[in-house]
Amino acid sequence: MQPIHFFNGQFLPKEEIKFSVDDVGLLRGYSVFEYFKAYKGIPVFMKEHLNRFENSAALLGLKIPFTRLKIEEAILRMLKQNNYPISGIKILLTGGNSPNGFSAGKPNMAILNLETEDSEKEFYSQGVSVMSHNFNREFPLAKTTNYATAVKLESDWKQKGHLDVLYHDGRWVSEVARSNVFVVLGDKLITNQEGVLPGITRSKVLELAPEVGFDLEIRPFSLEEALAADELFMTSTNKRVMPIVKVDDQLIANGMVGAKTRQLMEAFDQLIRNELNS
Ligand code: PMP
Repeated sequence: MQPIHFFNGQFLPKEEIKFSVDDVGLLRGYSVFEYFKAYKGIPVFMKEHLNRFENSAALLGLKIPFTRLKIEEAILRMLKQNNYPISGIKILLTGGNSPNGFSAGKPNMAILNLETEDSEKEFYSQGVSVMSHNFNREFPLAKTTNYATAVKLESDWKQKGHLDVLYHDGRWVSEVARSNVFVVLGDKLITNQEGVLPGITRSKVLELAPEVGFDLEIRPFSLEEALAADELFMTSTNKRVMPIVKVDDQLIANGMVGAKTRQLMEAFDQLIRNELNS
């Protein structure tokens, strides 16, 4: 059987899903999305991701054209039929086909279920490096589809041997393009809250942090503090807890993956296993 996806109420093969050239998501960037993973057809933190999807849509004034129940049923049906060992669920909601190239129309919504793999093991054992860049996202609390700055920078950071880009405003760090960022300083775990996407992985790491012996500090932190950290890591659905050992040309501490980050990586992976077994 062909893999199925969902588009405006119908189940279709991916090739048959067509967004219009009049879609204001494409024309004016008026669109949001959501992304989460599933292992052997079991979605991970689906409730939290659907909550955030609703919040992103509300922040942009987009109306979700299906009920929560209908969306959940569609996702579970796709996961069952497509039967991938590891897959991603991507929900896309656009402002719809515009009558005049600017005004929003009736929203278009797709849910894709795409086979994927986990990130390379080496990233976790060796850590990764990121390139710093001065940039602020326009709607930081919403998961909009506008990653134009990051996509434009990709060839640059790849050529310099980095895995991603770390955004700051000249002083304060916000995020990595697709991840939240944490600083470890002694027993303190520091992460920002304002002006960043409320990451689902971030929220789970914050719950785990006291168990791993951290004192939490939720506050803005500067690029200077990040560079002077004992350990630095990022979190996201795709990367989970991933150590950052270098920013531009500067090593973080001795450039090795730190013990605390390792503990959190293990605790988070265990949390996912628990979720899948529950
Ligand atoms: N910030 C941004 C800008 C992102 O795109 C993502 C990925 N969704 C994150 C942070 C991390 O969020 P999550 O842990 O929910 O994947």
